[in-house]
Amino acid sequence: MSSECLFCRIVAGELPAAQVYSDAAVVAIRDISPQAPTHILLLARKHIPSVRDIAKADHGVMTEICSAATEVAKQEGIADAGYRLVINVGRDGGQTVDHLHVHLLGGRPMAWPPG
Ligand code: AMP
Ligand code: ZN
Repeated sequence: MSSECLFCRIVAGELPAAQVYSDAAVVAIRDISPQAPTHILLLARKHIPSVRDIAKADHGVMTEICSAATEVAKQEGIADAGYRLVINVGRDGGQTVDHLHVHLLGGRPMAWPPG
């Protein structure tokens, strides 16, 4: 855990968040600035700065996140209608928090191409 990392502090329970799901590898919270009727962040419990920093030693973390996303989509009632999973990577990718997370967006049709 990094004490300066916003999402590490949320995972540790030091900062409040609207948690919707938790397991051994993942904590899911509602995004504070939702871009869709359902906008959830799937946070890795482990501090990994970005998906581009995943190492072999972290094997399984993305599977855990995707599996958690499936569960949360069911909970949110959007599993059948569909939804979008997004990973922003680095500056041009639009990443603003350097802690591995996946956005789960749904509850409305998603446009393509993305902005
Ligand atoms: P990204 O831009 O992909 O790094 O995503 C970071 C996301 O975290 C943004 O969608 C923010 O709205 C969201 N966010 C920032 N601070 C908080 C917070 N305290 N609780 C929940 N979501 C947050
Ligand atoms: Zn962190």
